[in-house]
Amino acid sequence: MPAESILLRFMEGEGTADLEAYLRVEGYAAARHALTALTPEEVIEIVDRSGLRGKGGAGFPTARKWKFVPKDAPLKYVVVNGDEAEPCTFKDHMLLERAPHLLLEGIIIAAYAVGAHKAYVYVRREGYLARERLRQAVAAAYARGFLGRKIFGTGMDLEVVVHSGAGAYIAGEETALLESLEGRRAMPRPRPPFPAVFGLYGRPTVVNNVETLSHLPAVIRLGPEGYRALGPPALFSVSGHVRTPGVYELPLGTPMRQVIAAAGGLRPGRRFKAAFPGGSSSALLTAEHLDVPMDYEPLRAVGSMLGSASLIVMDDTTCIVRVVARAVAFYKEESCGKCTPCREGTYWLSQIFDRILEGRGRAEDLELLTHISRGMSNGACFCLLGESVPPGLEASLRHFRHEYEYHIRTGRCDVEAALAAAVAPGA
Ligand code: SF4
Repeated sequence: MPAESILLRFMEGEGTADLEAYLRVEGYAAARHALTALTPEEVIEIVDRSGLRGKGGAGFPTARKWKFVPKDAPLKYVVVNGDEAEPCTFKDHMLLERAPHLLLEGIIIAAYAVGAHKAYVYVRREGYLARERLRQAVAAAYARGFLGRKIFGTGMDLEVVVHSGAGAYIAGEETALLESLEGRRAMPRPRPPFPAVFGLYGRPTVVNNVETLSHLPAVIRLGPEGYRALGPPALFSVSGHVRTPGVYELPLGTPMRQVIAAAGGLRPGRRFKAAFPGGSSSALLTAEHLDVPMDYEPLRAVGSMLGSASLIVMDDTTCIVRVVARAVAFYKEESCGKCTPCREGTYWLSQIFDRILEGRGRAEDLELLTHISRGMSNGACFCLLGESVPPGLEASLRHFRHEYEYHIRTGRCDVEAALAAAVAPGA
């Protein structure tokens, strides 16, 4: 954990979902300071110098996104992306459940910076507790004058609406999320124009993720240099074959080996095999990458990405073919069907994986998997959902080709065979 925890301290123990608990840890002090002592331009400048980047996956600099919003537009919106449907990504839902006021304070700061007076928080339907805690927090904040008319006694009005999504992965894509908010099926829009210029109901809209906004009170409280000195900090969702899966706050750039250690290390007696550093849409890495810093550029340099900082750890009991097949099946289910490479590509990849796992693999299947994957790459798909499939698949073929070949040659899994052989003598 960094010298000072800036998010987890609001989530530990009983959390700070209760307004009184949040106020006891200086809750809403940063938003009050921003609105009463800083101009919107000064807030944007502080956020810019802090280096804060979007935590939803793309890693786009937050202040730069805000600067695209036209200053003189009469009506603007802040939209919070709380969909978080990437497999094994759960930090945003934990923030909503345990520290919803931290998000509301971040929303106030962001709305003030860009000149918006209405914000929508989009939370997927399955997040019942997250949504209810957030709704209670919104009601409590209204009752204390932290939301509504003339907040903190200033001229700033802000309305916050909690919206329940229907539960579709594609709704996490920011333009599909806007479509869903407007009452249509979640399908991505062509870009440009970007939401900062033409967003919700055609108005300039800032779309930020839950964790991104939750950093803002600390950015204001500590100042850009103080915030940067902490790492900068980030939340990592760590899952898979570690002893204590959960959410950990560590400086960006912490080596993967140390993130795994923070989660209690591997299960006893097991060896590290592979990991997705940024959810199932990132290219999987192997033991040779254990010392790669978990940050945007270093992970890109080894052909993967930080994404939503959701580290999925796999030990030597894992069949990589089955893992990738599961991810492909997920993307096939969640493909919105708008464009052919994603709709057809995920379908045919799934068919081939089913065939291999059922022991009916063909010699030409690996070439076919590569061919379809290439057809979905390099901008062929309309949005990032389709583009999410090739990195993991191609990395698995690069690092674990022998596992695919064994499945196809024998109709069995070499990992399962080895595990069965290991337990057989005493069984
Ligand atoms: S890549 Fe195409 S089909 Fe897939 S989710 Fe995006 S728009 Fe829909």
